Amino acid sequence: MLKLYNTLSRRIEEFSPINPPHVGMYACGPTVYDYTHIGHLRKYVGDDILRRVLETEGFEVKHVMNITDVGHLVSDEDSGEDKIEKGARESGRTVWEIAKFYEDYFWKSVETVNIKRPNIVAKATDHIKEQIKLIHKLEKNGFTYQTNQAIYFDISKFPNYTKLSGQKLEEKEAGARQDVVVDKQKKNPQDFALWFFTVGHFADHSMRWPSPWGEGFPGWHIECSAMSMEYLGDSFDIHTGGIDHIPVHHTNEIAQSEAATGKPFVQIWVHHNFLQVDGEKMSKSKKNYYRIDEIIGKGFELLALRYLFLTAHWRDELNFTWKSLEAAQNALNNLRHEIRGWEQPKVGCAEYEQRFRQVLENDLNTPQALAVLWELVKSDYPTSAKAKTILEMDNVLGLKLDEYLGKQIEAPKEVMRLVHKREQARNSGDFKESDKLRHEIKKLGFEVEDTSSGSKVKPLQ
Ligand code: AMP
Ligand code: ZN
Repeated sequence: MLKLYNTLSRRIEEFSPINPPHVGMYACGPTVYDYTHIGHLRKYVGDDILRRVLETEGFEVKHVMNITDVGHLVSDEDSGEDKIEKGARESGRTVWEIAKFYEDYFWKSVETVNIKRPNIVAKATDHIKEQIKLIHKLEKNGFTYQTNQAIYFDISKFPNYTKLSGQKLEEKEAGARQDVVVDKQKKNPQDFALWFFTVGHFADHSMRWPSPWGEGFPGWHIECSAMSMEYLGDSFDIHTGGIDHIPVHHTNEIAQSEAATGKPFVQIWVHHNFLQVDGEKMSKSKKNYYRIDEIIGKGFELLALRYLFLTAHWRDELNFTWKSLEAAQNALNNLRHEIRGWEQPKVGCAEYEQRFRQVLENDLNTPQALAVLWELVKSDYPTSAKAKTILEMDNVLGLKLDEYLGKQIEAPKEVMRLVHKREQARNSGDFKESDKLRHEIKKLGFEVEDTSSGSKVKPLQ
């Protein structure tokens, strides 16, 4: 049975969906105002592994992800400019052009690390009606108040507001106060905006819609409550995000969803840890980030980055270095090399399939899953059985190993001629000639290896 760590209960729980075999999974998506970097990719690979494990466990997953294209202010706590508007102003493009450009870059990036597309992708600007409906419900239930600048959620009306983070409200208050609270009419510093009016600070905001309260645009948090409940129902199984979403975004999502419906919002909260650089979160603001272009530019494959992500547990930090990416690329190349030439799949190795499943069922332990895979590769099982199991494993790992399994490397003709000659020399016991030929092959940039199924060549690393 699959077990997952739940931020809400602060323990590892047995996963049992509300309506089996269906699983509703909502993933907070990108704010499309700037380039996707490889830190983001770690989070989306994490979601992808979770979804693939659920699928191999026999669940039918409905994976919904949002695209934030309005309402996410420079500070998560509702201060500063809207990120998309800022991007547009600074680049001289329209907000719609900015959102489209960076959304396209996002899809290009996640495809390179072999992420399955969510079943439903929901844009905030396509769901204004649903957000207004939800705010209306909150108003009817007595959780909102209006100032000249915005409609706010009154957190003092919602018991146990900080249950997700476990923070004391006073601690949160200190955090909230550090921001410039622009609206003096706000009752509590942690109250958050559901709807901003296009007045004052936001008078020139280009994205705006009519609402029962006046023209404006939605706050960031309401979109995820409105769209997740629209597609997955008032209560659903799994909600994911980065650990930075715990104290504000997801805390607010829970408050506004449960205040509207009176029902528990989400069963299991999955929060992925960060990709770091020199011990700090990889982020745009620290300018310590890399994009897929830089990875490709340095001659690495993005699948090697995916491999690197799998070497760390999703709840642990992972420090990115070029050396670690190089090690991941080498490991992936070696894995491919091992499985080349293996016969087509027949029956698998049940023992390894079971062990692989067990480690993933234990809170998605991908480092151990890789260890089991390597143990199998090096084991004495016949290669045809190993091949079948490797393909099964790769349904979860997503390393596209099927593109290599059973396929001989395409070495240049001259290299293959020498390999063939060398095989003949070996067969006739002429090891001196065989060694000489190995040396010549090496000079052409290839390495030859003798296996039970004949000689194999791979490029020198
Ligand atoms: P954003 O577009 O900034 O809202 O981020 C999209 C998602 O990526 C969020 O769930 C963030 O928590 C996550 N994220 C941002 N930076 C990193 C990082 N360095 N490592 C892992 N996840 C990150
Ligand atoms: Zn969200």
